[in-house]
Amino acid sequence: MLPGGERSIRPCRRGWRGGVLAVVAAFLPSVALGWSNHPLCTWQATAVMPGMADRMVRAEAVGTFLADVSGRLPAVLDGEEKWARETLPFYAPRPDDLRFGAAVGDEAALRAGFLHAIRVNDGMTLGLYVQRPPGVDVPADRLFPWSSASVLRTLEDTDPHSLERVAEGDMVRVADVVATATNEPDFGLDIDLWQDNGAAQGARYGFGVQPFGNPHLSYGTQAPFHMGFYHESAIVYRTAGYLQRTYPEARIHLFMTLSRFAFAQGHPYWGWRFAGWAVHYVQDLGQPYHVRVLPGVSAASMVWIGVLDRLGVHGPQVAAVIRVTNRHVVLENYQYRRMSAAYRAHDMDDPLLMALRDTSDDVSLRRFASSSVREVISAQSAAVAGVLDAQLVRTFPAADVVAAEATLDVADRDMNIVSRQAPPGEQARMTRLVADRMRQVGRDTRAVIRVLDPEAAGR
Ligand SMILES: [Zn+2]
Repeated sequence: MLPGGERSIRPCRRGWRGGVLAVVAAFLPSVALGWSNHPLCTWQATAVMPGMADRMVRAEAVGTFLADVSGRLPAVLDGEEKWARETLPFYAPRPDDLRFGAAVGDEAALRAGFLHAIRVNDGMTLGLYVQRPPGVDVPADRLFPWSSASVLRTLEDTDPHSLERVAEGDMVRVADVVATATNEPDFGLDIDLWQDNGAAQGARYGFGVQPFGNPHLSYGTQAPFHMGFYHESAIVYRTAGYLQRTYPEARIHLFMTLSRFAFAQGHPYWGWRFAGWAVHYVQDLGQPYHVRVLPGVSAASMVWIGVLDRLGVHGPQVAAVIRVTNRHVVLENYQYRRMSAAYRAHDMDDPLLMALRDTSDDVSLRRFASSSVREVISAQSAAVAGVLDAQLVRTFPAADVVAAEATLDVADRDMNIVSRQAPPGEQARMTRLVADRMRQVGRDTRAVIRVLDPEAAGR
């Protein structure tokens, strides 16, 4: 999920906020976000779930769904708001004027009221479409326009011609609905929601100023919703408390609540679509660069780099930012290029795809719970962040991941990091480590679906 058309990613002084580590963190998480093209992961993860391959659901327009549930939805969202305020210590309360009333009006009014009530980008149309895998052509007369799917002009990792429109009432595969929905949070749901992003919605939503990342770089504005730094040391939180102002837990809980509600109200299409939204954030937290600020760098070094920067010695900090940015980009590019090539070649034995279908570790997280985000999912990816970071250094050219003087161009559609790998031994170790991440992503995807699927009760 690397952004296209956004080239202004070099470190700069913009976005500085107080605290020793402020400048470090101001740029780290704004560049590359999570895994690339989540449906590539989700299709594999769900392919091994019993009965999933043949399950179908009838597509339903968002307006039809909202019109039917508008009387009952406010109470559910009020309950969700109460949970978030009581449970999440850094949660910014939703302003009362955003409450979803038992609104009357046309589809556009219902949709706008809903998007505001859940505080996502109000440019999202939530139209009906499914994404097709690499190598599957969508007929020209079936294409769903990219501009209707996303508020972004383009995404480096998603072919705009892979989206196929669906009509209300069409029967679609549940696996495709869920997989497609796992890309939707990267299509703009969380873009420009902070008050300093220059969008009208940000002034209303009450999230405050963007805690880290460049508030003027639109794709980076979603970073605090897709990253969760739960495993840094106390000194890092003391000096850079804003790192705790992240929202994946709130998003996962909200979208799982909406999923359960939709199923219970007899709207399974939206049950599955909201489930896919929740799965996106769970998958993101399996990405080590989403749960650690500077993998492989000790807290003492982080603080020292910050001190030097405050004293006017900017070199170490600039270098650290470039290094972590490029490794983050390299990991995503590697995962995306390798997996999309495997799809195109119908090579389902690629180790990354096999790992996503590997259920051997599912016993360690059979059913997802709210506590799983911190205690299991992000804890595991944080624990291996340093090892993976070191392996990236051994596998890819120093010019990219050690001594680079500038960040890699994430908008470069031709960049294929897979071709830049070192000798086979290091390649094999790299494959194993990324496959381990994919095994976790597959397990976590299934754990969320199992707990939401009305037909999986007791399974
Ligand atoms: Zn994401």
